[in-house]
Amino acid sequence: MRIARFTTGDDPRYAVVDGDDLEVLSGDPLYTPLNPTGQRVPLESARLLAPIIPRSKIVGIGRNYAAHAAELGNEVPERPIVFLKPNTSVIGPDDPIVLPSYSRDVHHEAELAVVISRLCKDVPPERAKDVILGYTAANDVTARDVQKEDATWTRGKSFDTSCPLGPFLVMDLDISDLRVQARVDGDLRQDGSTAQMIYSVPDLIAYVSSIFTLLPGDVILTGTPAGVGPIEEGQRVEVEVEGIGVLGNPVVRR
Ligand code: MG
Repeated sequence: MRIARFTTGDDPRYAVVDGDDLEVLSGDPLYTPLNPTGQRVPLESARLLAPIIPRSKIVGIGRNYAAHAAELGNEVPERPIVFLKPNTSVIGPDDPIVLPSYSRDVHHEAELAVVISRLCKDVPPERAKDVILGYTAANDVTARDVQKEDATWTRGKSFDTSCPLGPFLVMDLDISDLRVQARVDGDLRQDGSTAQMIYSVPDLIAYVSSIFTLLPGDVILTGTPAGVGPIEEGQRVEVEVEGIGVLGNPVVRR
């Protein structure tokens, strides 16, 4: 099942995607059972928004694909590399990625994102599925020059607009072998599979929840396959995760 968060000009609402239509829901699927209102909205007349705005945190995972670690000259980490992106970094489909003024080398990173359903801590891997609401696609936009220069990744990865999410939240998805791609102006740049992850989603949830209490709506970014590269002002970058859809964003500099 695919869930959209959308607007037609008023407050954001949620809907189940049914073909070319949105079947509008009465509440937020994070906190209330899926309850259709009976109203239908054509998908083409709705503006899709980020399917989730975390109230608490986005947890990023670095170097979770061996070929990506190698392309930047890094070793595969002994344990997951964890960083945070604030909820102010989130944008939705078609919202502009604003290149930060302090970077000249901003990269796309196509990723599968996991959305957490409930408050949890110290989740064992075998229970991870119990705390997953669903999945969406993410672009972990990264100022690569600054990431390398600074002692922490915060300026490199946590700036405004650095976390496009969407287009949909998908429940009941088998994520064992999903294609993860990035395209820039239509050119294929990244083409990997979730089967190539070093640490699996259950292992990541176990590790991350050993550090933080996870709250409903928290998002875990699961790392990016090889092929990262620059995005420039005026380009359009698309992340596609098989079974979820295409997340496209224009790139601007202000
Ligand atoms: Mg990343």
